[in-house]
Amino acid sequence: MFEKWDMPEAKANLEFMPPVVFLKEAQVKAPSVEIQAGLIREAVLNIPALRYECWQQMVPEQRLAVLNALEDQIAEIGLRDPRVVVARELDVPALCKGQSIIINRELVSSDTQEGFEAAVSALIHEGRHAYQHHNMTVSQVEKNGELVDSWRTNMDLGYDNGTGKIHWGRSDIQLKMQAREVDADAFTCAVMQQLEDVFK
Ligand SMILES: [Zn+2]
Repeated sequence: MFEKWDMPEAKANLEFMPPVVFLKEAQVKAPSVEIQAGLIREAVLNIPALRYECWQQMVPEQRLAVLNALEDQIAEIGLRDPRVVVARELDVPALCKGQSIIINRELVSSDTQEGFEAAVSALIHEGRHAYQHHNMTVSQVEKNGELVDSWRTNMDLGYDNGTGKIHWGRSDIQLKMQAREVDADAFTCAVMQQLEDVFK
């Protein structure tokens, strides 16, 4: 049986066999922003607890559980691993740090509709940073290579996460104009538009 492989013809066939599995894996890309936003809307519709009427009656731990449920779905849609959503005292609305998404405790404790929507919006914004990070360091699932390059350049030039520890002198405008922030804001805007009628 094994001698067959020594036959020149069989060997030649093997060499020309395309690496099917690897090609398939390399072609797996995340959907466009518009499609991702639509899928996140579907995910929210499937989490009935993620409505202001429910949020109002929840304690912060329950709210975090609901936000974690949404993050799990958003991560799946963006072809990345989910982060753990936690609440801490922060100077900014939220941060994406290590394997966590940290939401400002004030947002998770707020009983207002504005607080609820700000918490969801902050989660989506930080989830997009997790997506950027995944594309830069784990696997490029984003179809637009130039976009990923712009995130990389932003990191190389000194990304400011808003806590003022890097580039203390940077103004709010300069901070929001960074490639990673512009992209995260545009993504959040697309998703929140999809959710407008759901949260009414
Ligand atoms: Zn940001």
